Amino acid sequence: MKNQFESNVLYHDAISQLEDAASTMKLDPNILDRLRTPKRAIMVSVPIRLDDGTVKTFMGYRVQHNMTIGPGKGGIRFHPSVDMAETAALAMLMTFKCALVGLPLGGAKGGIAVDPTSLSRQELQALTRRYATEINMVVGPTIDIPAPDIGTDGQTMAWFLDTYSQLKGYTVPGVVTGKPISVGGSLGRAESTGKGVAFCVSFAADYLKYKINESTKVAVHGFGKVGIPAAQDLAAQGAKVVAISDVSGGIFDPNGIDVNAAAEWTRSGQLLKDFEPNKTITNEALLELDVDILVPAAIDGVITKDNARKVKAKIIAEGANGPLTTEAVDICTANGSFIIPDILCNAGGVIVSYFEWVQGLQNFFWDLDQINSKLYSILKNAFDEVIDCHEKYKVDMKRAAFIAALKRLATAMRMRGLFPA
Ligand code: NAD
Repeated sequence: MKNQFESNVLYHDAISQLEDAASTMKLDPNILDRLRTPKRAIMVSVPIRLDDGTVKTFMGYRVQHNMTIGPGKGGIRFHPSVDMAETAALAMLMTFKCALVGLPLGGAKGGIAVDPTSLSRQELQALTRRYATEINMVVGPTIDIPAPDIGTDGQTMAWFLDTYSQLKGYTVPGVVTGKPISVGGSLGRAESTGKGVAFCVSFAADYLKYKINESTKVAVHGFGKVGIPAAQDLAAQGAKVVAISDVSGGIFDPNGIDVNAAAEWTRSGQLLKDFEPNKTITNEALLELDVDILVPAAIDGVITKDNARKVKAKIIAEGANGPLTTEAVDICTANGSFIIPDILCNAGGVIVSYFEWVQGLQNFFWDLDQINSKLYSILKNAFDEVIDCHEKYKVDMKRAAFIAALKRLATAMRMRGLFPA
């Protein structure tokens, strides 16, 4: 049965991927039916007093798609395009991402339709605190644990934690993740997604019997929170990062880029087009470079049926969510590229968020080596499971990842059964 969200492109895409995987693996149709709609979706109004004394009301959302395996987990997005359908689609993808990597967590997402750059710090704090108050009854360490997403950050999470804790009367560190270290954040969280991307590239190289060394050329599209640590770790593995880009464009140097210097430049708020002005390249051209490894880590939909045939990379590591359209996946796979799918490749962030939640519940904090070695083994197990599905069902890695996630979820849903019976 179609639901009200399916006219939304993102939701429609998520459902198509779900149906595609379900038909390949012959998923129980009753389970498919339950997964088509979120378990719970709430819409709240978030009124705040602006600095000029007027009151403005924003719309906020929290969607919990499936919580069979554990509490919901997913970010809070502050962006003008946020609505219920987009939030529901992103919550569904979180269900599959958490299931794929075997976390005891379900899928959720939230957000407010707002341009956060148009608000002062005080207004943003008021917005976050009122939103946290409005949704407090459906979140919590055993119910649903938010995290930062587009337009939100560690400060937003600290305000959320404080508001929730004020309502409870005691500090509740497990209510959100992505917190600053000073209020219970985890070591390694900031680099975790990029580190996971680099781990997945090394697993893919081993699987393909390809040795990463100084002749391995890497291009990173989107040198941000995901792209920077991915580039740094791939350089540390011995590869040569020859191209990086941000929204202003990119730089290309066949002899290799000093990734750490570029990271410092970017983190100081400067644009890459000004980093080495005589070596600039467009974002479009970067995607088509003759490289061994391409890491699209900026935004969704950058490789489509229009440019997919020009992509030459042997390994495409989806650092961003959905950087390749479904048509592009088919074209690149047919051209021999090995795609590491987003729900696996960028799952490092939610894995270390899970570690942060566990540390918060225990009030016992782990060292960085422990965090990175656990991150490595969780991703390695998930990668191997996706490879098993890739080989067993003879499907590309994107479809294999969905199948692997659905297998774990369906087993749990079947065991728990339906209430009331
Ligand atoms: P970010 O804002 O830190 O970095 C994004 C980078 O992409 C920046 O360099 C930006 O300049 C560049 N960019 C933006 N628009 C662009 C465009 N149109 N063309 C080229 N470059 C562009 O964001 P991030 O946190 O690194 O997230 C990047 C992607 O990874 C997003 O799809 C996000 O949903 C996904 N993701 C992030 C995390 C995380 O932990 N940060 C986890 C999972 C998935």
